Amino acid sequence: MIGAPHLTFALDTPGVSKGHLVVPKGADSEALLLPVLSLNKGEGPRLLVTAGCHGNELEGPIVARRLLDWLPDAQKCGKVIIVPVLNPPAAQAWSRNSPVDGLNLNRVFPGRADGPLSERIADAVSRILLPMVDTVFDLHGFGPRWEFAPASTTHPIADADLMRKTLQVAEAFKLPVTLIWDGPDTRGMFDTWAQSQGKVFICAELGGGTVDSDVLMIAETAVRNALISLGIIEGEIVWPTFRQQRSSRTLRTLPSDLLKSPARGIFEPRCSVLDEIKQGDLIGIVHPMDPWSSSSTDIRAPSTSIVCGLRSGEHVDADEAVALIARPVNL
Ligand SMILES: [Zn+2]
Repeated sequence: MIGAPHLTFALDTPGVSKGHLVVPKGADSEALLLPVLSLNKGEGPRLLVTAGCHGNELEGPIVARRLLDWLPDAQKCGKVIIVPVLNPPAAQAWSRNSPVDGLNLNRVFPGRADGPLSERIADAVSRILLPMVDTVFDLHGFGPRWEFAPASTTHPIADADLMRKTLQVAEAFKLPVTLIWDGPDTRGMFDTWAQSQGKVFICAELGGGTVDSDVLMIAETAVRNALISLGIIEGEIVWPTFRQQRSSRTLRTLPSDLLKSPARGIFEPRCSVLDEIKQGDLIGIVHPMDPWSSSSTDIRAPSTSIVCGLRSGEHVDADEAVALIARPVNL
């Protein structure tokens, strides 16, 4: 078939099937083949695991590859579809957005069949894979410019029942943070589209900065925990240890909790992720690039909260985010 997205194999084939999701060619590129693995053990939960939506977040693709090693043998029931790299052009360019069309794949859902490549990827996933599942794990990292506490995240969902189910699955990862993210603009995101279709969707932010082995172990353990909670595999829940802590907190972050730099400069963190801070505590300092030109600016906590993410590496521009804080849901 030419011109419509399709799989090169039948998803209802029992057992392990490998093939591709064909994203048709368009004005800006030839057809794109997304590798897809299907694990079909019959009745049970139906799960889609995607990674590599943003090409500079490599934790997800690595964890997805690790799943390929053990999940086929461990799976007891249900169907699991794994797409290790959703956005191959961005992954090859090690960029958040696609080098083909400049778009952020996570802002163009549900996509368009006749749009640029990113919209065609979103259209193919929305039409071919999403209807086949009840639950989606979308594996992200926070990117190389942030320190971030591994977190399973969701936006607030208007449907109270879906919100309850989503939070239950998000907490089952047992990551250091379960985050309800009150983002300022969620249009075109994969999760909001999937949730509008009644799916449980967890966006896992698996770390930031360099891809290190401890964080990968935490991420793999967390995904295994979530697979156990869904009943797809059997096993003991393991609480991952992150920075000597074995705990998991459910937090909520508001749009005003993304703290921004007032000027271009160098950000000096004065705290660490997961630190508890009080209103007025020093989170970091933005220093001017030319130390004699102007004075440094303190970034202080606007409220009692917990630090989830801190900018690291490279200078920051004016109005760029330098820290993400969040507050316990029961405060
Ligand atoms: Zn991402």
